[in-house]
Amino acid sequence: MKIGVLAVQGAVREHILCLHRLGVEAVPVLRPADLAGLQGIILPGGESTAQWRLLSRAGLAEPLAEAIKGGLPVFGTCAGLILLAKRITNWPERYFGVLDVAVERNATGRQVDSFEATVAVDGLGEVPAVFIRAPAIREMGPGVEVLGRYAGEPVLVRQGAILGATFHPELTEDLRLHEFFLNLCRKG
Ligand code: GLN
Repeated sequence: MKIGVLAVQGAVREHILCLHRLGVEAVPVLRPADLAGLQGIILPGGESTAQWRLLSRAGLAEPLAEAIKGGLPVFGTCAGLILLAKRITNWPERYFGVLDVAVERNATGRQVDSFEATVAVDGLGEVPAVFIRAPAIREMGPGVEVLGRYAGEPVLVRQGAILGATFHPELTEDLRLHEFFLNLCRKG
């Protein structure tokens, strides 16, 4: 199994490490050619505006959008979720726009408001999570399933082979969400 990690900016190494720990080949995606032969791709957390600028410059915007629309399983964490969202409530742009949710950027406020918590995930129980200037999911379309909640709010959602988390699972030692994503990729 070969999984890509978008590698223009953000928590790239941490995701690659998680995938290696699960015994999976992990490929940093920097150019369109890197998409060849992938069974899934992770869009890491970081800064969504910077990521979009850099991935566009690398010629990845169109081929990656096509791949996701064509069914390539994708896991967007934090900024990665923002890139996938159909609408950003407090930002004039939208990026891939493939996941039927509206997100609010930086909903947890300033950098100092970042925190660690546990998220209640269906079928997995309590999963540790790191929230860093995390987005909040404000609206969801009918095809979107909530898989994880924190303080009653949706923080992990799925629409077919598209998985989105408002937090950073790769900054904890817990590999269950990566494993969950790999199972989606095996089916995909
Ligand atoms: N605040 C960032 C953004 O808007 C996301 C933060 C993160 O990925 N940890 O892109």
